[in-house]
Amino acid sequence: MSNNSLNSLIQQLGKVPGVGKRSAQRIALHLLQHKETELQPLMHALSLADQHVKQCEICGNLDGQSPCQICQSVKRDATILCVVEDVADVWAMERSNGYQGLYHILGGTLSALEGRGPEVLAIEPLKNRIRQGDFQEVILAMNATMDGQTTSHYIAEILMEFKIKVTRLAHGMPMGGELDYLDQGTLAAALSARLVI
Ligand SMILES: [Zn+2]
Repeated sequence: MSNNSLNSLIQQLGKVPGVGKRSAQRIALHLLQHKETELQPLMHALSLADQHVKQCEICGNLDGQSPCQICQSVKRDATILCVVEDVADVWAMERSNGYQGLYHILGGTLSALEGRGPEVLAIEPLKNRIRQGDFQEVILAMNATMDGQTTSHYIAEILMEFKIKVTRLAHGMPMGGELDYLDQGTLAAALSARLVI
């Protein structure tokens, strides 16, 4: 193996989100020292994913089929649509076991700093789905970040023309959270979103 192949492996690994140069070197070394148990199965998995994983033409989810299993399922409630930033957010919602509706993946957030406008997000497809579907409620489940909330407000305004119920996730106390440990913003959000019991 020439030094070039090693460098290019490290370079590619370093492009993976969350993997810096040092980690890329460590991963490359680990893979090369365990070719049969680590490197080859990884190559196989990468190749299978490349061939079989598709983006759902309806919601933007990643799955082995398009439309994805969620969009095709008759068990899901087709009157509720949950708008999220990324595929990972769909996984998080599914893990919660608390949601039975459908999803729409925007593909990111608006960001003034990084120059991302509405045209890079799946907003037109969202409007088309609402126009053609039978939705009674749209849940805006953006991250509680500045960009997430800006995006949420932007979409809420766009959806006003549809006269549909638009909700957003509650902000506030995390399960198991103690008042004393909450940051100021979380506690303020929990206070303003308090519920009658
Ligand atoms: Zn789908």
